[in-house]
Amino acid sequence: MIARNPPPVGHVTLVGGGPGSTELLTLAAVAALSQAEVVLYDRLAPTEDLALLAPAAVLIDVGKRAGSHPISQSGIEDLMVGHALAGRRVVRLKGGDPYVFGRGSEEVLACQRSGVPVTVVSGVTSAIAVPAAAGIPLTHRGVSHAFTVISGHAPLTENELAGITLLGSTLVVLMGVGTLPTLTQGLLRHGMRAELPVAIIERGFSTTQRTTVSTLAAVLVDAAAAGVQSPAVLVLGEVVRLAYSGELGAEDLLARANEFAAVA
Ligand code: SAH
Repeated sequence: MIARNPPPVGHVTLVGGGPGSTELLTLAAVAALSQAEVVLYDRLAPTEDLALLAPAAVLIDVGKRAGSHPISQSGIEDLMVGHALAGRRVVRLKGGDPYVFGRGSEEVLACQRSGVPVTVVSGVTSAIAVPAAAGIPLTHRGVSHAFTVISGHAPLTENELAGITLLGSTLVVLMGVGTLPTLTQGLLRHGMRAELPVAIIERGFSTTQRTTVSTLAAVLVDAAAAGVQSPAVLVLGEVVRLAYSGELGAEDLLARANEFAAVA
């Protein structure tokens, strides 16, 4: 019998594709795509120019939609590992950053368990970029000096609600459309101000991007009236006023922030 060397193992590059615009791909992401033989891409990744960016690759849509998963997480991992073990250069293209609610670390572990070399390319997260696309900064000197990013996938515990209310900084919620009722009721119950400004930015970076601005007390009614749908990023905090003036105009708020900065 003739001994054969096993075929060389390929590798997986987990690429954060940013919030949906090709322009927000990193140079490392573009380089990985240009070398790819297989691309497994998500629904929220930038897919418009994929055929040009990865001309040599087989493109596989493994996009998950809220409520229906055409391919399960373990199915995605099996595909990714399988192609790499067959010697191919695999890019796993994800929306935003792979390590922000993206199950990226699970996919890294799946590769490591199978002996597949894996690298991670960070991406621009929608948690920051989608509010920015609507003109909302997450921090502003004198207005908010911290931001908390939470997943709305499951309702928060009472302790988490209490902690967020106490912190009093900008709150960013991903996957939060479905749990908006429990979140707003929970925050109000824990003493968050009813007039706290809230912005919901749907479909960031698409031609149908839309922002709905409201307050903590009114957002449920306003979101229902507007027919707000996932994917959307929610921003709760005074920073919303920097883009959308409410009672206190953006000018007033900036002036107040600048006064604060002058004495600080
Ligand atoms: N890893 C991703 C987040 C995955 S969770 C990241 O870093 O951006 C998916 C959630 O991200 C969506 O439910 C939505 O809340 C948010 N999201 C991602 N892209 C978005 C976009 N273009 N517009 C609005 N929300 C987006």
